[in-house]
Amino acid sequence: MAEKEILVAFDDVTIEYEMKKQSLRAVKDFSLEIEKGKITAIVGESGSGKTTAVSSLLQAISTPGRVTKGHVYFYDNSQKIDVTALQGEELRSFRWEKVSMVFQASQSTLNPLMTIYDQFYETAFYHNAVGSKEEFQEKLRKLLDLVKLDSKRVLNVYPHQMSGGMKQRVMIAFALLLDPQLVILDEPTTALDVITQKYIFNQLIEINKKLGTTFILLTHDIGIVAKAADHVAVMYAGSIMEYGDVYTVFGRKMHPYTNGLIDATPSIIKSADQIEPIPGSPPDIRKLPEGCPFHPRCRHSTDLCRQQMPKTVEITDGHMICCHLYQEGGAAK
Ligand code: SF4
Repeated sequence: MAEKEILVAFDDVTIEYEMKKQSLRAVKDFSLEIEKGKITAIVGESGSGKTTAVSSLLQAISTPGRVTKGHVYFYDNSQKIDVTALQGEELRSFRWEKVSMVFQASQSTLNPLMTIYDQFYETAFYHNAVGSKEEFQEKLRKLLDLVKLDSKRVLNVYPHQMSGGMKQRVMIAFALLLDPQLVILDEPTTALDVITQKYIFNQLIEINKKLGTTFILLTHDIGIVAKAADHVAVMYAGSIMEYGDVYTVFGRKMHPYTNGLIDATPSIIKSADQIEPIPGSPPDIRKLPEGCPFHPRCRHSTDLCRQQMPKTVEITDGHMICCHLYQEGGAAK
Protein backbone atom coordinates (compact mmCIF):
# COMPACT_ATOMS: atom_id res chain seq x y z
CA MET A 1 0.00 0.00 0.00
CA ALA A 2 1.42 3.46 -0.95
CA GLU A 3 2.48 5.49 2.05
CA LYS A 4 0.24 8.49 2.69
CA GLU A 5 1.75 11.93 2.21
CA ILE A 6 0.56 14.71 4.50
CA LEU A 7 0.14 18.20 3.01
CA VAL A 8 -1.38 20.04 5.98
CA ALA A 9 -1.47 19.29 9.68
CA PHE A 10 -3.76 21.19 12.04
CA ASP A 11 -2.09 20.54 15.35
CA ASP A 12 -4.28 21.03 18.43
CA VAL A 13 -5.74 24.32 17.20
CA THR A 14 -8.03 26.32 19.49
CA ILE A 15 -9.70 29.48 18.16
CA GLU A 16 -11.37 32.06 20.36
CA TYR A 17 -13.29 35.27 19.77
CA GLU A 18 -12.39 37.97 22.29
CA MET A 19 -15.63 39.77 23.12
CA LYS A 20 -16.09 42.63 25.60
CA LYS A 21 -17.41 40.49 28.42
CA GLN A 22 -16.14 37.01 27.62
CA SER A 23 -14.01 35.00 25.31
CA LEU A 24 -15.96 32.62 23.04
CA ARG A 25 -14.32 29.38 22.01
CA ALA A 26 -15.37 28.49 18.45
CA VAL A 27 -12.88 25.66 17.85
CA LYS A 28 -11.27 23.40 20.43
CA ASP A 29 -8.17 21.16 20.14
CA PHE A 30 -8.68 20.72 16.40
CA SER A 31 -6.17 18.16 15.07
CA LEU A 32 -6.49 16.95 11.51
CA GLU A 33 -4.08 15.79 8.81
CA ILE A 34 -4.93 16.51 5.18
CA GLU A 35 -3.57 13.91 2.80
CA LYS A 36 -1.93 15.13 -0.39
CA GLY A 37 -3.90 14.50 -3.60
CA LYS A 38 -7.10 13.54 -1.76
CA ILE A 39 -10.47 15.19 -1.13
CA THR A 40 -11.11 15.65 2.58
CA ALA A 41 -14.57 16.78 3.62
CA ILE A 42 -15.37 18.51 6.88
CA VAL A 43 -19.03 18.10 7.61
CA GLY A 44 -21.25 19.56 10.32
CA GLU A 45 -24.29 21.73 10.92
CA SER A 46 -24.08 25.53 10.57
CA GLY A 47 -22.07 26.96 13.45
CA SER A 48 -20.06 23.76 14.03
CA GLY A 49 -16.81 25.69 13.49
CA LYS A 50 -15.69 24.08 10.23
CA THR A 51 -15.12 27.34 8.31
CA THR A 52 -13.41 28.97 11.31
CA ALA A 53 -11.11 25.97 11.84
CA VAL A 54 -10.01 25.81 8.21
CA SER A 55 -9.68 29.60 7.88
CA SER A 56 -6.72 29.30 10.26
CA LEU A 57 -4.80 27.74 7.36
CA LEU A 58 -4.94 31.09 5.56
CA GLN A 59 -4.90 33.29 8.66
CA ALA A 60 -8.33 34.36 7.45
CA ILE A 61 -10.36 34.02 10.66
CA SER A 62 -12.87 36.84 10.90
CA THR A 63 -12.04 39.40 13.60
CA PRO A 64 -11.96 39.37 16.61
CA GLY A 65 -11.19 35.64 16.34
CA ARG A 66 -7.65 34.31 16.68
CA VAL A 67 -5.73 31.11 17.21
CA THR A 68 -5.05 30.95 20.94
CA LYS A 69 -3.42 27.52 20.96
CA GLY A 70 -1.77 25.17 18.47
CA HIS A 71 -0.26 25.48 15.01
CA VAL A 72 -1.06 24.81 11.39
CA TYR A 73 1.73 23.26 9.32
CA PHE A 74 2.00 23.09 5.54
CA TYR A 75 4.46 20.59 4.04
CA ASP A 76 5.95 22.02 0.85
CA ASN A 77 8.20 19.23 -0.44
CA SER A 78 10.80 18.90 2.31
CA GLN A 79 9.94 22.26 3.89
CA LYS A 80 7.64 22.45 6.93
CA ILE A 81 5.95 25.86 7.03
CA ASP A 82 4.31 27.05 10.25
CA VAL A 83 1.42 28.93 8.66
CA THR A 84 0.37 30.51 11.94
CA ALA A 85 3.69 32.42 11.96
CA LEU A 86 3.62 33.72 8.34
CA GLN A 87 3.50 37.48 7.82
CA GLY A 88 3.63 40.13 5.08
CA GLU A 89 4.86 39.04 1.65
CA GLU A 90 5.30 35.39 2.73
CA LEU A 91 1.66 35.20 3.80
CA ARG A 92 0.43 37.02 0.67
CA SER A 93 2.20 34.59 -1.67
CA PHE A 94 1.20 31.56 0.43
CA ARG A 95 -2.43 32.50 -0.14
CA TRP A 96 -3.45 31.72 -3.73
CA GLU A 97 -0.03 30.30 -4.77
CA LYS A 98 0.01 27.39 -2.26
CA VAL A 99 -3.54 27.39 -0.95
CA SER A 100 -6.65 29.10 -2.29
CA MET A 101 -10.17 29.23 -0.92
CA VAL A 102 -13.57 29.61 -2.52
CA PHE A 103 -15.67 31.15 0.25
CA GLN A 104 -19.38 30.63 0.73
CA ALA A 105 -21.43 32.67 -1.77
CA SER A 106 -18.15 33.80 -3.32
CA GLN A 107 -19.80 34.37 -6.70
CA SER A 108 -20.99 37.67 -5.28
CA THR A 109 -17.33 38.73 -4.91
CA LEU A 110 -16.98 38.90 -8.72
CA ASN A 111 -16.67 42.54 -9.71
CA PRO A 112 -19.87 43.44 -11.64
CA LEU A 113 -18.05 46.19 -13.56
CA MET A 114 -15.23 44.07 -14.97
CA THR A 115 -15.24 41.31 -17.57
CA ILE A 116 -14.19 37.85 -16.42
CA TYR A 117 -10.97 38.15 -18.43
CA ASP A 118 -10.00 41.41 -16.70
CA GLN A 119 -10.66 39.85 -13.28
CA PHE A 120 -8.43 36.86 -14.05
CA TYR A 121 -5.78 39.22 -15.44
CA GLU A 122 -5.85 41.49 -12.38
CA THR A 123 -5.31 38.55 -9.97
CA ALA A 124 -2.52 37.02 -12.07
CA PHE A 125 -0.83 40.41 -12.53
CA TYR A 126 -0.85 41.02 -8.78
CA HIS A 127 1.01 37.73 -8.30
CA ASN A 128 3.41 38.25 -11.26
CA ALA A 129 1.90 35.28 -13.03
CA VAL A 130 0.77 36.68 -16.40
CA GLY A 131 3.71 35.85 -18.73
CA SER A 132 3.08 36.58 -22.41
CA LYS A 133 -0.43 37.43 -23.64
CA GLU A 134 -0.59 34.20 -25.69
CA GLU A 135 0.54 32.05 -22.73
CA PHE A 136 -1.98 33.70 -20.44
CA GLN A 137 -4.84 33.24 -22.88
CA GLU A 138 -3.90 29.60 -23.36
CA LYS A 139 -3.78 29.12 -19.59
CA LEU A 140 -7.28 30.59 -19.20
CA ARG A 141 -8.59 28.44 -22.04
CA LYS A 142 -7.28 25.30 -20.33
CA LEU A 143 -8.56 26.37 -16.90
CA LEU A 144 -12.06 27.11 -18.16
CA ASP A 145 -11.99 23.90 -20.14
CA LEU A 146 -11.37 22.05 -16.84
CA VAL A 147 -14.60 23.44 -15.44
CA LYS A 148 -16.37 22.83 -18.75
CA LEU A 149 -16.79 26.47 -19.73
CA ASP A 150 -16.13 27.82 -23.21
CA SER A 151 -13.44 30.51 -22.86
CA LYS A 152 -14.59 32.26 -26.06
CA ARG A 153 -18.02 32.69 -24.53
CA VAL A 154 -17.10 33.42 -20.92
CA LEU A 155 -14.01 35.63 -20.88
CA ASN A 156 -15.57 38.71 -22.42
CA VAL A 157 -18.78 38.77 -20.45
CA TYR A 158 -19.71 40.45 -17.17
CA PRO A 159 -20.85 38.42 -14.13
CA HIS A 160 -24.54 39.38 -14.57
CA GLN A 161 -24.49 37.73 -18.01
CA MET A 162 -23.82 34.28 -16.49
CA SER A 163 -26.00 31.80 -14.58
CA GLY A 164 -25.27 30.90 -10.91
CA GLY A 165 -23.71 27.58 -11.95
CA MET A 166 -21.43 29.28 -14.49
CA LYS A 167 -20.29 31.87 -11.94
CA GLN A 168 -19.52 29.14 -9.43
CA ARG A 169 -17.41 27.30 -11.99
CA VAL A 170 -15.60 30.57 -12.80
CA MET A 171 -14.81 30.86 -9.06
CA ILE A 172 -13.37 27.34 -9.04
CA ALA A 173 -11.24 28.23 -12.09
CA PHE A 174 -10.10 31.36 -10.20
CA ALA A 175 -9.04 29.22 -7.27
CA LEU A 176 -6.89 27.12 -9.64
CA LEU A 177 -5.38 30.13 -11.46
CA LEU A 178 -2.02 30.12 -9.67
CA ASP A 179 -1.72 26.31 -9.58
CA PRO A 180 -2.14 25.97 -5.80
CA GLN A 181 -1.45 22.63 -4.17
CA LEU A 182 -4.61 22.85 -2.09
CA VAL A 183 -8.04 24.37 -2.75
CA ILE A 184 -10.58 24.89 0.04
CA LEU A 185 -14.21 24.96 -1.06
CA ASP A 186 -16.70 26.29 1.48
CA GLU A 187 -20.25 25.11 0.65
CA PRO A 188 -19.39 25.40 -3.05
CA THR A 189 -22.82 24.52 -4.42
CA THR A 190 -25.24 26.03 -1.91
CA ALA A 191 -28.11 27.79 -3.70
CA LEU A 192 -27.57 25.81 -6.91
CA ASP A 193 -30.04 23.25 -8.20
CA VAL A 194 -29.23 19.55 -7.65
CA ILE A 195 -28.32 18.87 -11.28
CA THR A 196 -25.79 21.73 -11.35
CA GLN A 197 -24.47 20.57 -7.95
CA LYS A 198 -23.87 17.08 -9.27
CA TYR A 199 -22.21 18.46 -12.41
CA ILE A 200 -19.84 20.66 -10.39
CA PHE A 201 -18.85 17.83 -8.04
CA ASN A 202 -18.15 15.52 -10.97
CA GLN A 203 -15.82 18.20 -12.31
CA LEU A 204 -14.06 18.56 -8.97
CA ILE A 205 -13.41 14.83 -8.85
CA GLU A 206 -12.08 15.01 -12.42
CA ILE A 207 -9.74 17.93 -11.54
CA ASN A 208 -8.54 16.06 -8.46
CA LYS A 209 -7.71 13.01 -10.57
CA LYS A 210 -6.25 14.95 -13.52
CA LEU A 211 -4.12 17.57 -11.71
CA GLY A 212 -3.64 15.84 -8.36
CA THR A 213 -4.92 18.99 -6.59
CA THR A 214 -5.78 18.41 -2.92
CA PHE A 215 -9.22 19.65 -1.86
CA ILE A 216 -10.82 20.46 1.48
CA LEU A 217 -14.56 20.51 1.13
CA LEU A 218 -16.68 22.20 3.82
CA THR A 219 -20.31 21.23 3.70
CA HIS A 220 -23.38 20.25 5.70
CA ASP A 221 -24.50 17.91 2.90
CA ILE A 222 -23.34 14.37 3.63
CA GLY A 223 -24.82 13.09 0.36
CA ILE A 224 -22.19 15.16 -1.46
CA VAL A 225 -19.45 13.97 0.89
CA ALA A 226 -20.32 10.32 0.29
CA LYS A 227 -19.97 10.82 -3.46
CA ALA A 228 -16.98 13.14 -3.70
CA ALA A 229 -14.66 12.75 -0.69
CA ASP A 230 -11.95 10.26 0.25
CA HIS A 231 -11.88 11.20 3.94
CA VAL A 232 -14.37 12.89 6.23
CA ALA A 233 -14.14 14.73 9.55
CA VAL A 234 -17.45 15.23 11.36
CA MET A 235 -17.51 18.40 13.47
CA TYR A 236 -19.81 19.42 16.29
CA ALA A 237 -19.57 22.51 18.52
CA GLY A 238 -15.98 23.24 17.48
CA SER A 239 -14.60 19.70 17.95
CA ILE A 240 -14.02 16.75 15.64
CA MET A 241 -16.36 13.94 16.68
CA GLU A 242 -15.28 11.36 14.11
CA TYR A 243 -12.71 11.05 11.35
CA GLY A 244 -11.84 8.35 8.85
CA ASP A 245 -12.21 7.29 5.25
CA VAL A 246 -15.70 7.88 3.90
CA TYR A 247 -16.60 4.18 3.52
CA THR A 248 -15.64 3.40 7.12
CA VAL A 249 -17.32 6.42 8.72
CA PHE A 250 -20.60 6.18 6.80
CA GLY A 251 -20.55 2.39 6.51
CA ARG A 252 -19.93 1.53 10.17
CA LYS A 253 -22.32 4.17 11.56
CA MET A 254 -20.73 4.26 15.01
CA HIS A 255 -20.81 7.81 16.37
CA PRO A 256 -24.30 8.93 17.51
CA TYR A 257 -23.89 12.38 15.90
CA THR A 258 -22.74 10.96 12.53
CA ASN A 259 -25.70 8.55 12.65
CA GLY A 260 -28.01 11.49 13.36
CA LEU A 261 -26.69 13.33 10.28
CA ILE A 262 -27.14 10.22 8.10
CA ASP A 263 -30.69 9.58 9.35
CA ALA A 264 -31.63 13.22 8.77
CA THR A 265 -30.46 13.19 5.14
CA PRO A 266 -33.25 13.03 2.53
CA SER A 267 -32.87 10.53 -0.29
CA ILE A 268 -35.00 9.42 -3.19
CA ILE A 269 -35.37 5.93 -1.72
CA LYS A 270 -36.50 7.20 1.71
CA SER A 271 -40.08 8.20 2.37
CA ALA A 272 -40.64 11.41 4.34
CA ASP A 273 -41.37 9.45 7.57
CA GLN A 274 -38.01 7.67 7.30
CA ILE A 275 -36.17 10.98 7.62
CA GLU A 276 -35.39 11.55 11.28
CA PRO A 277 -34.13 15.01 12.18
CA ILE A 278 -31.70 15.26 15.12
CA PRO A 279 -33.78 16.57 18.06
CA GLY A 280 -32.97 20.02 19.44
CA SER A 281 -30.52 22.44 17.87
CA PRO A 282 -26.75 22.97 17.87
CA PRO A 283 -25.47 24.64 21.07
CA ASP A 284 -24.88 28.35 21.43
CA ILE A 285 -21.09 28.83 21.76
CA ARG A 286 -21.76 31.37 24.52
CA LYS A 287 -23.22 28.56 26.66
CA LEU A 288 -21.61 25.28 25.67
CA PRO A 289 -22.80 22.35 27.80
CA GLU A 290 -20.40 20.60 30.19
CA GLY A 291 -19.00 17.22 29.12
CA CYS A 292 -19.76 16.01 25.60
CA PRO A 293 -21.32 18.99 23.77
CA PHE A 294 -23.73 16.65 21.96
CA HIS A 295 -25.21 15.19 25.17
CA PRO A 296 -28.42 17.31 25.27
CA ARG A 297 -29.39 15.84 21.85
CA CYS A 298 -27.95 12.33 22.17
CA ARG A 299 -30.22 9.38 22.91
CA HIS A 300 -27.27 7.40 24.36
CA SER A 301 -26.08 10.04 26.82
CA THR A 302 -25.20 8.99 30.36
CA ASP A 303 -24.07 10.80 33.51
CA LEU A 304 -20.49 10.42 32.33
CA CYS A 305 -21.36 12.20 29.03
CA ARG A 306 -22.86 15.09 31.03
CA GLN A 307 -19.72 15.46 33.15
CA GLN A 308 -16.71 14.66 31.01
CA MET A 309 -15.62 15.42 27.45
CA PRO A 310 -14.67 12.05 25.88
CA LYS A 311 -11.14 11.47 24.61
CA THR A 312 -10.55 10.79 20.93
CA VAL A 313 -9.59 7.14 20.39
CA GLU A 314 -8.50 5.15 17.35
CA ILE A 315 -11.01 2.39 16.57
CA THR A 316 -9.20 0.87 13.59
CA ASP A 317 -6.33 2.15 11.49
CA GLY A 318 -7.08 5.85 10.88
CA HIS A 319 -10.68 5.75 12.16
CA MET A 320 -10.94 8.13 15.12
CA ILE A 321 -13.96 8.61 17.40
CA CYS A 322 -14.65 11.02 20.23
CA CYS A 323 -17.46 9.36 22.26
CA HIS A 324 -17.72 7.62 25.63
CA LEU A 325 -19.35 4.62 23.92
CA TYR A 326 -16.01 3.60 22.43
CA GLN A 327 -12.51 2.89 23.61
CA GLU A 328 -9.17 2.31 21.85
CA GLY A 329 -9.58 -0.62 19.45
CA GLY A 330 -13.32 -0.10 19.08
CA ALA A 331 -15.07 -2.26 21.67
CA ALA A 332 -18.03 -0.58 23.28
CA LYS A 333 -17.44 0.22 26.95
FE1 SF4 B 1 -23.63 10.64 22.99
FE2 SF4 B 1 -22.20 10.38 25.22
FE3 SF4 B 1 -21.14 9.71 22.86
FE4 SF4 B 1 -21.55 12.26 23.45
S1 SF4 B 1 -20.15 10.89 24.49
S2 SF4 B 1 -22.05 11.27 21.53
S3 SF4 B 1 -23.44 12.16 24.61
S4 SF4 B 1 -22.90 8.74 23.88
